[in-house]
Parts: sequence; structure tokens; C-alpha cells
Amino acid sequence: MPAHDAAVTDVPPPALKAFGDRFRGRLFGPADAGYDDARTIWNGAIDRRPGLIARCADARDAVAAVRLALEHDLRVSVRGGGHGVAGLSLCDDGLVIDLSAMRGVRIDGELGEAYVEAGATLGELDRAAQSFGLAVPAGIVTHTGVAGLTLGGGIGWLTRKHGLTVDNLLEAEVVTANGELVRVSEHENPELLWGLRGGGGNFGVVTSFRFRAHPIGPIVVAGPILFPLERTAEVMDVYREWALDTPDALTTILNVRRAAAPWVPEPLQGLPVCIVIPCWCGPIEEGLAIVEPIRRLGPILDLCEPRPWLEHQQMFDGSVEPGWHYYWKSVELDALSPDAVDAIVQHTWSITSTRSYTIVFQLGGAMARVGDGDTGYGRRAAGYDVNVNSVWLPVERADASTHVGWVRSLFEDLEPMSRGVYVNFLGEEGRDRVRSAYGPETYDRLAGLKARFDPTNLFRSNQNIPPAV
Ligand SMILES: Cc1cc2nc3c(=O)[nH]c(=O)nc-3n(C[C@H](O)[C@H](O)[C@H](O)COP(=O)(O)OP(=O)(O)OC[C@H]3O[C@@H](n4cnc5c(N)ncnc54)[C@H](O)[C@@H]3O)c2cc1C
Repeated sequence: MPAHDAAVTDVPPPALKAFGDRFRGRLFGPADAGYDDARTIWNGAIDRRPGLIARCADARDAVAAVRLALEHDLRVSVRGGGHGVAGLSLCDDGLVIDLSAMRGVRIDGELGEAYVEAGATLGELDRAAQSFGLAVPAGIVTHTGVAGLTLGGGIGWLTRKHGLTVDNLLEAEVVTANGELVRVSEHENPELLWGLRGGGGNFGVVTSFRFRAHPIGPIVVAGPILFPLERTAEVMDVYREWALDTPDALTTILNVRRAAAPWVPEPLQGLPVCIVIPCWCGPIEEGLAIVEPIRRLGPILDLCEPRPWLEHQQMFDGSVEPGWHYYWKSVELDALSPDAVDAIVQHTWSITSTRSYTIVFQLGGAMARVGDGDTGYGRRAAGYDVNVNSVWLPVERADASTHVGWVRSLFEDLEPMSRGVYVNFLGEEGRDRVRSAYGPETYDRLAGLKARFDPTNLFRSNQNIPPAV
């Protein structure tokens, strides 16, 4: 049997009892009330049955859980916000080290820093930081977990102005694969900080983070501008030049789909659309002028206006509800070529669910000014991350293969134009895809770090980087 692959049922009952007596959080075994809730994650298509879910109350609990796994050679997974699409935060029969009850967030307004426990969601961090007029660059859906998003990179509305989430990560507390709690910063274990800045959950259980936060808002110029799908190529001809030219304070995201959201008026619901979503974090008048070239194209709906940063952050939460079923694949593109746009548009005409979509994140700016080898994150020069996401309801379970097929066929068209992928947008896609998320040099350095900090690959229910031999 490979190392760390035993089931919780293999642990002698007295050892489990002793662990339970020491553990301060909650434990959920298959026979316990609350077990099914505890094994429920964002992607309702995932149905894994862990042997034990150890929902930690604090870092000491996380240490105890890692030590239990080491003593009994257990299969392990680590859960933050539970939003990994592949469900790798859960493992069948093994031990889930669940941080989701550790959600404290503390802001130091004077220093401009945020201290965040590993179970917090982006929304919890956003709200706490905004009460000081601050924000930590993170993702675009507030129910996503800070932990997994950070460890893979973290792209969102502030990427171009203030960099990736990992570019703002100053310090972390980590339970390493030998069961020790260590502090990681530029001064203590700096190579581990390098690895945490993109290397995912490979190096240990992070129990807390310290981030740099930046003044943002409270008002930004942001919101969706909708065009009929058939106008996408024409809109993209303008968008392409405009997006390249605009200051870092502007980040845009494109969403190509059938219109479906509470903010879409009834007559437009279901219409195939290309949505340009600018978010400008600078002086309001300047932002209104900046988005003018897109407005002048004559959209069918224009909701881009001055609005609170917190409101904008939550605007797309309802399009990706927890519990729906999801499957996605992703590519990084250097440029948004007419061929790539055409592939996206053609597939959108034959989209198999009104909830499915293709989302395109604009990158560059501050993120691209960090050197490629400076952090464990992959390719800094990528221009766009494209995520093709099929979404269906649990009652449509029987149609899953149709929705999955739609994603795969668009992915097959886009992949030849791509040189990589963002690790946090990977499903369970195998070692080559993980390698392509980092590029060979960063991957090899991460594998070397893994050999030092987790030589037996205890933490492998993730986008795994096996230890270098
Ligand atoms: C609706 C939605 C919107 C998203 N939007 C964005 C976005 O705007 N920008 C972006 O960059 N990404 C985005 N993502 C992708 C997101 O970054 C990843 O899904 C990320 O893994 C989610 O982290 P989590 O903690 O919620 O998930 P989990 O499933 O809990 O964790 C994912 C993996 O991270 C590791 N991990 C989690 N917590 C810890 C920890 N405390 N210590 C060590 N390892 C840990 C584990 O390997 C785990 O398998 C989005 C995902 C979803 C589902």
C-alpha cells in the first residue's frame, strides 16, 4: 500500500477515542448527525464519503489531526472554503482536516494588513477590510474560500492594480507534514513562503494568513454591459485595444452565456449575450470616461455605474450557487485572438444549459510586473484566463455527460491556442496539466521544495506536485 493511504476504519478505536478527547473542534464520522452536511461542498456533483471529518477549532486541532494521520498512515485531505471544483478537499474513507469553522478576520487599519483564519470566505474578508476602507486582492465570488484561492494565486478585480492574492501574502502559519506548526514569512522559512505563493496545498495545512490590504472604494465604477452574442466579434475588436491601453486601475472580465441573473430584465432573460464587466478602482469621473468607448458601442443593457465595492463583489454570487452541479476546464491565453473569440461564440450558440458560461479574466498590470520565478505561481505573462464552466441542477443529473461534453468540445478548440492553465481552475486532469500550470522551472523548484517539506507526499489530495526524487 502507498504511504498515507489507510482508511480511518483502520485506526484502533482507543486511538480514535484519545484523539477525540483532545480535539477541541467537532468530529463527524459516517454515523454522526451532521455528517452529510459536513461532507457537502460547493460542487454538488461531488459525492465523497470521508472516514472522519475533523473540523478544527484552532491551529492546535490542525496539529493534532496531522499527527493522527502520521501515526496511522491515513489518507488525508484539507478543506478551506470547499470551492475546489474537483472536490479534492474531501477524500473517501480518509481524514478531512477541515478549517471551515476557523473564520476569524482582523484588520489593522493603520498598518493596512489583514489577519485571516483559513476557513474565512472572501465575503468575510471583504466586509471586515472595507470597514477600514481597505480590500485584499482576491476573487470575484464572495462565498469562495480565502485559503484555496490564495494558495493557488488568486485573481480578481484588483489583480491589475494590486497583483494576485499571493503577491499580497506576507505571512502564514502552517502545520507541516511532520506535524509542526511553523511561521512562514520573508524572515522565517522564506522558501516555504515562495512555495505557498502559488504551490497550492502541497506544503502543509495553513491555519492563518497575513495579507497586505489596500485602500479601495467605497465606490468603484463597475458592472455588466451586455451585447447580443452576434455582435461579439465587433465588440471584441474594440475591447481588445481598449483593454490593452487602459490603466491598471481597470480590470475587466468577459462573460459569454445566456443572460440569466436577478439583475437581467425579463425580456432579456435567456438571450445569448457577450457581457463586458469593467471594474475601475480610481477617481469616479475618470472611470466613467474610461468605460465610454465600450458604452458607445450601443449595448442592450448597461449597468456599469458608480456602486459600492462590496456590492460589486457580490454581484455574481447568485450565478454559481453552492449545491448546483459543475464541471469546468480552463486555458490561459496570451491574447484574445479572433479565432479564440469565434470558438467561444460558436459554442455559446449550442450551450447545453442556461446556467453554463465562458468567463474570461483579463490579467496583466501589477500581476505581470512580478518576475516569473519570484513566487510559486505559474506564468505571469499570460494575458487572459478563460474558464469554460458547465452548470446544471441536481435534478438534471442524467444530462451530466451532455454538459461535460459541451465544456470539453470548447476546450479542445481553445487548447491549441494556449500555453498553460491557472492551477486553481484545474479539475482532476493529471500530472501534465499541473506541470503546465507552473511551467517546467517553477514546477521543478516546487517539486524540490516538496521533497524537503513533504517527502512522503502526505498532502496529495490536491493539484499534486510529487516530491522530486
Ligand atoms: C464559484 C467560484 C468562483 C471562483 N472565483 C475565483 C476567482 O475569482 N479567482 C480565483 O483566483 N479563483 C476563483 N475560483 C477558484 C478558487 O480559487 C479555487 O476553487 C480554490 O481552490 C477555492 O478555495 P477553497 O478554500 O474554497 O476550496 P477547497 O476546496 O476547500 O480547497 C481547495 C484546495 O486547496 C487546498 N487548501 C484549502 N485550504 C487549505 C489550507 N487551509 N491549507 C492547505 N491547503 C488548503 C487543498 O488542497 C484543497 O483541496 C473560484 C471557484 C469557485 C467555485
